Amino acid sequence: MGSVVEAERLLRQIYGYPSFRPGQRHLIKQILEGRSMLGIMPTGGGKSICYQIPALLLEGVTIVISPLISLMKDQVDGLRQLGISATFINSSLHFEEMKQRIDAAKRRAYQLIYVAPERLESERFRRLLETIPVSLVAVDEAHCISQWGHDFRPSYLYIGKLVAQLPKRPIVIALTATATKRVQQDILESLNIPENHVLITSFRRENLRFSVIHGVQREKYLLNYLQAHPQQSGIIYCATRKEVDRLYTFLRSKSFPVGRYHAGMSEQEREEMQEKFSFDQLPLMVATNAFGMGIDKSNVRFVIHYNIPKNLENYYQEAGRAGRDGEESDCILLYQPQDIQIQRYLIDQSDLSLERKRYELHKLVAMRNYCLTEMCLQQNIVRYFDDQSEETCGKCSNCRARGEGEQREEVTIEAQKIFSCIKRMGERFGLSLVARVLGGSQSKKVKQFGFDRLPTYGILSKEYTNKEIYHLCQTFAAEGYIALDYSSTTYPVAKLTSKAIAVLKGEERVWRRKQQTEKIVMKSSSARDELFELLRKLRLELSQQEAIPPYMIFHDSTLKEMCEVVPQDPETMRRIKGMGDRKYEKYGQAFLALIQEHANRLGLASKQIAATTETPPSKASHLLTYEMLQRGMTLEEIAKKRDLSVPTIQDHLFRCHVEGYLIDWDKYIPKQYEKSIVQTIARLGAQKLKPLKEALPEEVSYFVIKAVIAKQQQQQLKS
Ligand code: ADP
Ligand code: MG
Ligand code: ZN
Repeated sequence: MGSVVEAERLLRQIYGYPSFRPGQRHLIKQILEGRSMLGIMPTGGGKSICYQIPALLLEGVTIVISPLISLMKDQVDGLRQLGISATFINSSLHFEEMKQRIDAAKRRAYQLIYVAPERLESERFRRLLETIPVSLVAVDEAHCISQWGHDFRPSYLYIGKLVAQLPKRPIVIALTATATKRVQQDILESLNIPENHVLITSFRRENLRFSVIHGVQREKYLLNYLQAHPQQSGIIYCATRKEVDRLYTFLRSKSFPVGRYHAGMSEQEREEMQEKFSFDQLPLMVATNAFGMGIDKSNVRFVIHYNIPKNLENYYQEAGRAGRDGEESDCILLYQPQDIQIQRYLIDQSDLSLERKRYELHKLVAMRNYCLTEMCLQQNIVRYFDDQSEETCGKCSNCRARGEGEQREEVTIEAQKIFSCIKRMGERFGLSLVARVLGGSQSKKVKQFGFDRLPTYGILSKEYTNKEIYHLCQTFAAEGYIALDYSSTTYPVAKLTSKAIAVLKGEERVWRRKQQTEKIVMKSSSARDELFELLRKLRLELSQQEAIPPYMIFHDSTLKEMCEVVPQDPETMRRIKGMGDRKYEKYGQAFLALIQEHANRLGLASKQIAATTETPPSKASHLLTYEMLQRGMTLEEIAKKRDLSVPTIQDHLFRCHVEGYLIDWDKYIPKQYEKSIVQTIARLGAQKLKPLKEALPEEVSYFVIKAVIAKQQQQQLKS
């Protein structure tokens, strides 16, 4: 059996990547050591490599179950580009063809076979699979197994049958980007993976720049953005088909290379649009959320939400389609308060049960909070998924505003007026009625409850419009001064939190950001941009010759690195990230020649890059921390030395942990609490941290709880 060292060698040699992404090393190690695993990694996190590399190192054949026929061919083509032998079996084949492929598989002609789950429903087909030596079964998009997931596929239930039926029990790896506890449980049970063989990496996406844009004219903003980012590929999501059609027509009238996609179009039309998008013929796409599953395009540089989606799960999934290649990408949300009203109306009018409506409403409020919060947006998202991280991203619109010395104004008085009004109304009403009272509304409801006699009635009407008051209230809710309670009615009831009480008592002051709209910076184009365009053109030509999408030749990131390094000899070219052996053989010369031809004219000189075989170019931050730990430094010492906060260093430990580095957790777990933490975990499970934190004494921090969980995982995987 192969080792992790060999896996790393293949990563460099075949894929041309210098180092593993978070979680990959760990998952691959477990698989190679014969343990079945469930891996939960974000979109673009690099899940495929977690089964592809073991497939190359294990004796027998790897079967990959993947839900989309349209993607299957792409995946197999992509592997062949790397020189890996693979094929697929789905309903697009005749039985004879299928049989041929199976026969070839018996002779080990393929290292990987992609199989559509529907095939497994046939007993006859499963019997055929028994005749090949299967060592690994990889289940991609594993959440499809669960009825509680958002994409349940009944045929996924046959995977467990297949695994049990194979003559020699294969190793199983299940992979997904989304999994609630319920879904995780279903996956583990269905595939018979041991309870604790689960690896969850951070939900964080380091290369995405999140922005929420307030108070702009959306069409104008969009035009400016598109003009400032010519040639880039991006998706613009709208809430309705009508809006998609309207924007599509509008952008076409301005000569943008744009496609459209929504469920009202014919299947053929949709397929055509998707293909043109993949092939960069129409690099821009205006779409409803029907456009999604099955887009593996790696060079999507931005995702703009023209409307607000109904919850953060959807938002993160859609926005997450940007930057799969790891390159910096934008995720922009254009905030319009009326979008929230519309979503709320849709929930109210739906025929969901009351309980379900409350649940949806609750999620909608989290979405609104995301739009209004002043905290780091990436942090806001990962916390929503219950990763209580302290780390801020430094590049979202909120982090940037803070960095640029944003202008803030004090709103303590306003806050006190609002909070006291909520209190006087008995903490029994929603924010819109609170706002109306503060604005001095004459409405029937206000009078009916006698709120026009409250001392806070109309108290903000001089300085603010009703709309502004409502917005202020929502902002305070987003910042945690006001809690919204759904338990009694269909509308959220505003209640004060301890934070608000402190403000009322005059112990805390409240500030808010002065509304300022983000400037879109027009980039002037440089010599490197010109080279990039030349490389892109070459890539497009080659891709057309071979009838494959351009990103299958090289990702944008690989072309970008070529522009940075300007390689003019084979050795340097081979060190470019994404330049595996096979890719070099096929395309290296053509790109080299093009660079040699233009480098001089453009005044670009070659840069040296270190050979990655010994040391990866720049060590990731958390690995530097790991080295310092190895040298015996404490967390505080490391934080001081590196000029980082202790929570950041603590986050590093967990990142090292998911990447399979061993940490001596006992150092960080106070002995007197360990037992009760372990018991609480046994009682409540380790999936959600918040309930654990609440069940334990105040002084037990998130860090310590997470350390105990990590220790348990480390022990279980060793055993
Ligand atoms: P997922 O299935 O998790 O959404 P993929 O497996 O499609 O993600 O990988 C996303 C992109 O990241 C692919 O282009 C892949 O080649 C690239 N990638 C994967 N692992 C690495 C790595 N260790 N270094 C650099 N790029 C990687
Ligand atoms: Mg994937
Ligand atoms: Zn941030």
